[in-house]
Amino acid sequence: MIIAVYGKGGVGKSTTTSNLAVAIAKEGKRVLQIGCDPKSDSTFTIAGKMIPTVVEILDKFNYHYESIEPGDLIFTGYGGVDVVETGGPPAGSGCGGYVVGETVKLLEKMDVMTRYDVILFDVLGDVVCGGFATPLQYADLACVVSSNDFDALFAANRICESVVEKNMSGYDVKMAGVIGNRCDQVDLLETFTRRIETPLMGVVPRKEEIRQSRVKGYTLFELEEMGEPVQDMTAEFRKMARYLLSKPDGVIPNAVGTREMFELFKGE
Ligand code: ADP
Ligand code: MG
Repeated sequence: MIIAVYGKGGVGKSTTTSNLAVAIAKEGKRVLQIGCDPKSDSTFTIAGKMIPTVVEILDKFNYHYESIEPGDLIFTGYGGVDVVETGGPPAGSGCGGYVVGETVKLLEKMDVMTRYDVILFDVLGDVVCGGFATPLQYADLACVVSSNDFDALFAANRICESVVEKNMSGYDVKMAGVIGNRCDQVDLLETFTRRIETPLMGVVPRKEEIRQSRVKGYTLFELEEMGEPVQDMTAEFRKMARYLLSKPDGVIPNAVGTREMFELFKGE
């Protein structure tokens, strides 16, 4: 099963994807997480370090794909989760999905995609990025991470629009749901998910432990083992992992028009 996780920059996509990856692995599944962001830090909390990116590796091997071994780009981190970082083009140039496409091509050539029960793509989802829709062409399900803020929900809606568009172009990708993150309240999130007729999969609060886990290079599950009081949060990730492993049908979201987005929350 291939799952693409989207959301506005800084909303907590990588934090969410990494904790989901570990939660799914703890259910006994083989998991690969692919970070698709020039920031290349998607898998930092799992690997405990910045790993070399596919862009760097392709460069090192002079684009001789046949010389590249799985061990050059796939690293095993906490909980037995395997991780890959695509990297990105130099600042100022767009990739148009090229880097993600090359990564998938490489993994398919190595015949490693079939080793995994679940592959998670953590995708830069800012509305300005032209290449961000590419993983939707490979995914069975998409999740979108959003806080309870208008701008995060606006980006989430754009991603829903992309899922609708991909279905019209013949791709079979469905929305598994919206994940609330950095949420002290959920009023706007609930209004939005009701309106787009898409499940709210889970809600993670704004927590100091999560901010710190990022800096220290640990997922919440590792912190839990170290005795930190994060059980409520790991329980939420376990719940979401089980939901995804139940292979939900998912939905084609009832995406909101851009103008309507500005009207939707006025009554709140
Ligand atoms: P993205 O991948 O969407 O750019 P990150 O997952 O890197 O976002 O998160 C951005 C920053 O916000 C990180 O420093 C992370 O630790 C912090 N963060 C994410 N989720 C939470 C949360 N629920 N509570 C507190 N801090 C959070
Ligand atoms: Mg990220």
